[in-house]
Amino acid sequence: MPNTTSHLMQAYARQPVSFCRGSGARLWDTQGTEYLDAIAGVAVTSLGHAHPEITAAITEQAGLLLHTSNLFQIDWQERLGERLCGLSGMQRAFFCNSGAEANETALKLARLHGQRKQVVQPQVLVMDNSFHGRTIATLAATGNPAAHRGFEPLMPGFVRVPYNDIGAVRQAAAQVPGIVAVLVEPVQGEGGVRPASPEYLRALRALCDEQGWLLMVDEVQTGMGRTGTWFGYQHAGIAPDVITLAKALGNGFPIGACLARGQAAQLFSPGHHGCTFGGNPLACRIGCTVVDVMERDNIPERAAQLGHRLLAGLQHALRDHPRVVAIRGLGLMVGIELESDAKALLGRALAQQRLLITVTRDTTIRLLPPLICDGAQIDDIVARVARLLNAPTALPAHGEHARRGRITSPAT
Ligand SMILES: *Cc1c(COP(=O)(O)O)cnc(C)c1O
Repeated sequence: MPNTTSHLMQAYARQPVSFCRGSGARLWDTQGTEYLDAIAGVAVTSLGHAHPEITAAITEQAGLLLHTSNLFQIDWQERLGERLCGLSGMQRAFFCNSGAEANETALKLARLHGQRKQVVQPQVLVMDNSFHGRTIATLAATGNPAAHRGFEPLMPGFVRVPYNDIGAVRQAAAQVPGIVAVLVEPVQGEGGVRPASPEYLRALRALCDEQGWLLMVDEVQTGMGRTGTWFGYQHAGIAPDVITLAKALGNGFPIGACLARGQAAQLFSPGHHGCTFGGNPLACRIGCTVVDVMERDNIPERAAQLGHRLLAGLQHALRDHPRVVAIRGLGLMVGIELESDAKALLGRALAQQRLLITVTRDTTIRLLPPLICDGAQIDDIVARVARLLNAPTALPAHGEHARRGRITSPAT
């Protein structure tokens, strides 16, 4: 329902709550009410809100230098590239400001790779149910017909197959000419928290080698420790050719990156690609600080342990629950699939449980708690989700009343 008094484009269905302060996994709204954050700004603030070392890096760098441009050397960018390549096994980085831009960069690498191979109509193989962003190219790569609606004609150059189905990829290899790359998420996040099997990712790697395709892994949501390893593909023990990062890389400061190794790392030369803000000293210093803190505090390992605790806690608390179809996840990325629409639960979780959750693909509750949570906070998330799902659904949520009240109030 549109809010007729706002001067913002109505691109989001927003909850009627506004936060003004945070600390770790806790948030306070403008009324002073405290909430538990189980989404971390959709996998962004993995080190929690107002992390003192991130704050210090921002304030110190803000007093030195924000931006010069990519016409010049940027030491923090060199350093962050080196750190990320060291952690991922990649060799070179390109910095931008978002996940969609990181994927655009990967798609441009795929096109160049195709050109080198003299492929006239290069195709990138993408998956059903995937999410890669909202720009014209990444929207076309995204496997969600509802997101496409109204934005046709879609950009050509994509072939779509079912996820986690290596047979479908082999069939495409045999039937579709011009495939030059595969773009895949190690866990489909927006698609309902669906992990790829390690065997599937290994088979994809082997097929890409056999066919001369680039294996491009979208780690925008899964990267930076979220799934219990630094990057999601590491669960399968493979080395992609290209990976994309964003979300947690800046802990809330906008930054994205596309990393590559081998031939893919050599494809760009001056004039091929660029980004005004990409990799500025402030963004890259923050990225370096995120990497430092995550490494020092063993954050990926912590995410693995807390993820087991969250999954086991939910499986126990929601066993035999009539509405729960499946509970799945990897690290601190967990989905609870319900047999019916779960969208109303978002407002109820806020109003009744003071808990931030997301709902994806209509029926799946997605939990993405900050990776710095302690065990008690994970148990608290489990308890609040259980209370949410056990509450009588006939009871209207406070949030729903508040929202209705706001929307029907006449413009003044
Ligand atoms: C969030 C997300 C994106 C898009 O990132 P933006 O920063 O919103 O452009 C791309 N891929 C995946 C897997 C994501 O989760």
